Amino acid sequence: MNNVTLNNGVKMPQLGYGVYQVNAAETERCVSDAIRVGYRSIDTAQAYGNEAGVGAAWRKSGLPRDELFLTTKVWITNAGEEKAAASIDASLKALQTDYVDLLLIHQPFGDYYGTYRAMEAAYRAGKARAIGVSNFYPDRFIDLANFCQIVPAVNQVETHVFQQQKTAQKVLSRYGTQIESWGPFAEGRNGMFANPVLREIGAKYGKSVAQTALRFLIQNGVVVIPKSTHVERMEENFNIFDFELTDADMAAISALDTAESAFFSHYDPDTVEWFMTLAK
Ligand code: NAP
Repeated sequence: MNNVTLNNGVKMPQLGYGVYQVNAAETERCVSDAIRVGYRSIDTAQAYGNEAGVGAAWRKSGLPRDELFLTTKVWITNAGEEKAAASIDASLKALQTDYVDLLLIHQPFGDYYGTYRAMEAAYRAGKARAIGVSNFYPDRFIDLANFCQIVPAVNQVETHVFQQQKTAQKVLSRYGTQIESWGPFAEGRNGMFANPVLREIGAKYGKSVAQTALRFLIQNGVVVIPKSTHVERMEENFNIFDFELTDADMAAISALDTAESAFFSHYDPDTVEWFMTLAK
């Protein structure tokens, strides 16, 4: 497994397993399967309602705690210093652990400065080995990174072949912040799994569209956390370290970038107002 080294020296697997939209009842089975396949990084969040399933799967796996990299995220309804601090303790309890490896602010809305202060305190108290953010577009990221005490180790943002985040990645690298992809397959949007460019390039190496899409991100230095509830797809998505895309392959896939979200933009006022209904 490839690791990246975060800005505080902590090592993070470059490939992990995400559990967004995995229902609470199925999470323990899915995470257990993922651990058996070989995944050693699991991405959950308070908002997913499945932290307990992740914790149960880890406990049953028998893996020493330091062999699993656990990420969770503070949800917008827990924004603000006090509420965030209490929610972090609740997350640790649900995950059956004393610390997470990575703790992120899920969305850049509400009193996220207060949330971040609670996360800095959690970091100092040993409850998180690294802290960072998610869905912070360059404007809000630059602002927070300049007025916090601990520069975010990671920014988890929508990143896939159609939204490659080239500008964001340049900004993040100036702060030593690792980019992490959510939605590495764009959840199948834009015809991702039937994309002819990815299919043709992958075929040269006996690899699928999914493997080619992930490999492109890996070679661009992005951390990926693909989700699947199917064990054969977990295996497929895991087997991406035994081939290498050429410069020409990388250029052809780079040209698929639309530099636009396949979901929604955090710059769109309607989207932001929808988030406000959660934050209040
Ligand atoms: P994704 O990984 O881009 O796509 C998941 C979809 O692709 C599922 O429908 C899955 O179906 C399918 N799939 C997976 N592997 C496949 C394969 N090899 N062939 C064909 N289909 C395949 O989407 P995501 O779950 O949204 O993103 C990944 C993780 O990022 C999440 O689980 C979560 O941890 C994180 N995330 C974070 C945020 C945030 O705001 N920070 C937002 C979204 C996601 P099956 O499950 O049926 O196999």
